[in-house]
Amino acid sequence: MLNEKVAALLNTQVNKEFYSAYLYLHFANFYTEQGLSGFANWYQVQAQEERDHAMLMVQYLQNNDAKVTFEAIAKPDAALSENMDPLKAGLAHEQYVTSLIHTIYEAAYEAKDFRTMQFLDWFVKEQGEEETNAADLIKKMELFGTDAKGLYMLDQELAGRVYAAPSLTL
Ligand code: MG
Repeated sequence: MLNEKVAALLNTQVNKEFYSAYLYLHFANFYTEQGLSGFANWYQVQAQEERDHAMLMVQYLQNNDAKVTFEAIAKPDAALSENMDPLKAGLAHEQYVTSLIHTIYEAAYEAKDFRTMQFLDWFVKEQGEEETNAADLIKKMELFGTDAKGLYMLDQELAGRVYAAPSLTL
């Protein structure tokens, strides 16, 4: 049996990961409206990854006989007007998600729940990558996004992102 607090936090995190997917689809819609289909593609792939994160947590809870409850997914709250806005909101969101993962890790550590700590190790590493990717997008946009030709090239680059299944399997 999982520690009750750890299980509750993981169940809440399932919702947060689905919200992340929803938020990134909101970003993708914004870029589609702007005619930037490469940026839209990048966030559609990101949304698929977030759904994977949620489902990994669902499976982990179920593998450990914990009940999974789906709560309502909140409306994406980011107000978007400039092409840079989703990128900055994305980095801030990933930093927030990192803090949530760390809070669950802390609870698992306190409960001496070594199995959950090991499960979460993948997510700790993943969050490092998510923050780096989000920060890199901001840097590229600052460097190239202010010029129409540069923005076109950047959009072409982001169009090349393809979905890959997560490296963690349960
Ligand atoms: Mg995630």
